[in-house]
Amino acid sequence: MKNFKPLAPLLFTLLAVPSFVFASFSTASADQWHENTYESSQPQGLHPIVAERAEILRQRAASIGIVIRFTDDFRSFEEQDALYAQGRTEPGYIVTNARGGQSYHNYGLAVDYALEVGHQVIWDIEYDGNGNGRSDWFEVAQMAKELGFTWGGDWESFRDYPHLQMDFGYSLHNLQTGNHYLY
Ligand SMILES: [Zn+2]
Repeated sequence: MKNFKPLAPLLFTLLAVPSFVFASFSTASADQWHENTYESSQPQGLHPIVAERAEILRQRAASIGIVIRFTDDFRSFEEQDALYAQGRTEPGYIVTNARGGQSYHNYGLAVDYALEVGHQVIWDIEYDGNGNGRSDWFEVAQMAKELGFTWGGDWESFRDYPHLQMDFGYSLHNLQTGNHYLY
């Protein structure tokens, strides 16, 4: 558990607060969208723009001595439902309050990052591995925002520090009802 210690209060917040109560801010323009609706083409992975920006982020972080790992990206509705069942009808701890369709991960629009130190993945938001006097975690968040991501650490209702998403101006309701152009 030593890697989790600095983040214990955060993790509690993550687990205890409904994760589908998102404030959404549009960061990417609508002209990046393609023809088909979600209904006609259910995503099976990350949106290509999200995947591309995530890879750029990984490279930019590496260039200043920060190794990041994406610990989660696309989650199918079934996978989300299985995650929701954990700690409720299935063994384990409750890790989410979002059912299938209630997370941006379900639409391929979100990734979660963590820091990789040696062979370990850590969630220490104060860690300064590149020794420049700034938290690596916040440096990555800043770079992500410059690439157009919304960072969960900025949310007022609860802070989801590992979470990066691009909603392209669409609410979860838009995504759930298929009333949008996604892929
Ligand atoms: Zn996330």
